[in-house]
Amino acid sequence: MNDLFSRREAVKWGTLTVGGLTLFGMTACFDKKKDKTAQPAATEPVAKPAANTAPSGDPLIALDHASAKGLKYAHDGSTVDAALKVEKSGVAGADQSCLNCQFYKPVDGKDYGKCQLIPVPGKHVAAKGWCVTWAKKA
Ligand code: SF4
Repeated sequence: MNDLFSRREAVKWGTLTVGGLTLFGMTACFDKKKDKTAQPAATEPVAKPAANTAPSGDPLIALDHASAKGLKYAHDGSTVDAALKVEKSGVAGADQSCLNCQFYKPVDGKDYGKCQLIPVPGKHVAAKGWCVTWAKKA
């Protein structure tokens, strides 16, 4: 009897094991199908447009914007430390401004324009602005 019981138990556990493995296999299969349809996880953060904290309606680039900060840009070049504004191409630091910089493209009728080195959509630099990459207009 004990022997019979053992066989029954063995059959029962064998069935459960086979059933379990089958279920496990199906689950793994479904997981694979699920993985194929799932969107890949982003490995790198999506570049968001840089924040522009300039007041609404102000067309100038915010001074704390990474592009402006990196170039030490100032809306008013006359406020920049003279030690930073060195003579370039025969133009004294005091005479340098975005207006006479080769990277400046003025906006008609405005005292500001686009800077090729600060290509932020909708944002501009002041004609009287200045940054460390100033270069004499050709
Ligand atoms: S590169 Fe020229 S136009 Fe651009 S911020 Fe500097 S000085 Fe102004």
